[in-house]
Amino acid sequence: MISFWCDKCKKDFDDNFTLRSNGFAKWFEARHKKCGEICIRYADFPQKDPYFHKSLKVRRQMVEFAKELIQPGDPRYRMYYKKQYDDMEKSTELYYNRQIKEKKEKDAYYDKFSYDINRREVIKKAIEAEEKISGKR
Ligand SMILES: [Zn+2]
Repeated sequence: MISFWCDKCKKDFDDNFTLRSNGFAKWFEARHKKCGEICIRYADFPQKDPYFHKSLKVRRQMVEFAKELIQPGDPRYRMYYKKQYDDMEKSTELYYNRQIKEKKEKDAYYDKFSYDINRREVIKKAIEAEEKISGKR
């Protein structure tokens, strides 16, 4: 059982093969059951087998393979995954902007809060001083 690509249906399929040859080359052959098309794989020049650039299954595997090898941070990642990279960069930017905004809000809150505490202290001291002067204590 080997994998074939049917040019007529544009589909991958696995089937038992017959090994055929003439004076020049050897090839695997299988008939696609859906359409009757005879599909072949090169037996003696696998590197020239058109199957590899036609098969969707191979393409998917290559993508999976590339995904494993190329991780974010790798400069090649930018080339292969321009869109994902842009989205990732955008969400990173959003994340940092949100962090900055939250920090500013927090700082503003603490500034206001500590200002209130200071003011309360000042007022308390002022009242105490006033009371001392007027001899109510
Ligand atoms: Zn077919």
